[in-house]
Amino acid sequence: KSRSTPIHPIVMLLVTYFLCTVGKSNALACPLPPELATKLHVDQVAVDSASSDYGNIVHSKPAAVLYPSSIEDIQRLVRSSYNCPIPFGISVRGNGHSVNGQDMARDGVVVDMKSLRENKHGIKIRVYKNHLFADVGGEQLWIDVLHTTAAQGLSPVSWTDFLYLSVGGTLSNAGISGQTFLHGPQISNVYELDVITGNGELVTCSKRNNSDLFESVLGGLGQFGIITRARIGLRSAPAKVRWSRAFYSNFSDFIRDQERIARGSQRDVANYLEGSLVLDNGTPTEWITSFFPPALLPRIMSLVKKHGIIYCLELTKYYFVDDTASEIDQDLQRVFKDFAHVPGFIDAKFVSHQDFLTRVPNVENESLTHPWQNLFIPKSRISDFNLGVLREIVLKRNITTGPVLFYPLNRHKWDAKSSAVIPDEDIFYTTSFLHTGGIDNWQVYDDQNKAVVRFCEEAGIKIVKYLADYTTIEEWIKHFGSKWTTFRERKAQYDPKNILSPGQKIFNGI
Ligand code: FAD
Repeated sequence: KSRSTPIHPIVMLLVTYFLCTVGKSNALACPLPPELATKLHVDQVAVDSASSDYGNIVHSKPAAVLYPSSIEDIQRLVRSSYNCPIPFGISVRGNGHSVNGQDMARDGVVVDMKSLRENKHGIKIRVYKNHLFADVGGEQLWIDVLHTTAAQGLSPVSWTDFLYLSVGGTLSNAGISGQTFLHGPQISNVYELDVITGNGELVTCSKRNNSDLFESVLGGLGQFGIITRARIGLRSAPAKVRWSRAFYSNFSDFIRDQERIARGSQRDVANYLEGSLVLDNGTPTEWITSFFPPALLPRIMSLVKKHGIIYCLELTKYYFVDDTASEIDQDLQRVFKDFAHVPGFIDAKFVSHQDFLTRVPNVENESLTHPWQNLFIPKSRISDFNLGVLREIVLKRNITTGPVLFYPLNRHKWDAKSSAVIPDEDIFYTTSFLHTGGIDNWQVYDDQNKAVVRFCEEAGIKIVKYLADYTTIEEWIKHFGSKWTTFRERKAQYDPKNILSPGQKIFNGI
């Protein structure tokens, strides 16, 4: 996308006057420091770029976009809003991969972190090899964290499936993937943060120091502060990864084997555990063709045809230089020996750690929409979810496009004091319906997403939405449940003027 032009100071004055006069927006009606004059953009290119995200469904126009070249620029902006008689909303666009406008700021200012990433100065990514951690700017992408740490033979332990996401963006949610059952989400693997709170102050926080702010910000949906630096734990990077997938035709067998790994009785067999559904909707997806040998594909497709849905357990095991080929072979046989997958429907391959972590490509297509839904489901109701949602809604509607992920997580790996909300059971499942729609037909997927939630409500299945997209305060209060009072009190403390992250639609209007 072409970069827009900055506002000339005179134009800025005129714009300010215009906006004051028509009372259209608060953002530019507030006195803004001269240092920001060349970095705040109000032109169409800038505004349009901040009015859309990966979902391509919600479009909210900001009054301006800030392209910061330093952390001080962001502080100046937040202070301007804080000191303004009518403060304006400020959202951070880490890499714009929200799917429901969470990174937008209607009539406010969007801070586009890309300009900080591209700036030569600043925190960037510093690896402290002896201390086994890295200091990483909140604006950095995980793909760059991977490359920089790998160059030193190290790696963070907890990842997302897709790495073109910003560090601040995933830490504002949780950051989950197949390593989460073992190491917890990314928010459980951070040692320290630098955060700009809602009054523009830059605060360093950790479990020992300003712990309440630290816990608020992790999973805090951008409500309490802007993450400018995160200290992330590292371990030795494996030399290679054995990556296996096995198919199941029976849901109960599938989740029983997943849980054996997640609960620990088979834990040493895997460093990564996920699972997914394969639905009978025509030709094999790229997800299947890129992994399994061509000879197996027709058999996989007839298995899907026969059962309507089949289930794929996916795991990896890390190997370090000392492991020999025969040890590895024995290991693979041992893992799957007692598992109830369909005989013969299994494959494994060796890839480098980096190739495994970069398995999901970065594809952008502005003519597509992504009406995604991510849910956490309590283990005790997983069979009801299978019958009511997977077999009744998903299978019968037969409209699902894109992957459907399905795998278990351990509650004890999550810090109960963080802002993230999860079900109140030791084991819960995450499922992601990652639909790809067109500009004109996303509602059909949205209807299915709503039907899933409606079914769970009626059946009393206490699901929790991950990357929630609620729009009313009542829905948010219900979402946070017993955490709501603390969440609201923390907001009053760290962002008393409700400036930060209005795109989440939590505190605007109350
Ligand atoms: P943005 O969309 O830019 O921002 C998201 C929210 O975080 C906004 O509210 C924003 O204000 C806030 N925010 C951003 N940066 C900061 C900061 N520095 N400080 C404070 N608040 C900030 N999630 C997973 O957990 N696991 C996955 O495997 C996974 N895969 C994904 C794959 C794709 C293709 C996509 C589109 C999303 C995926 N996600 C996944 C979801 C993703 O983690 C969230 O959407 C995340 O917010 C996107 O990061 P971003 O940097 O683009 O954030």
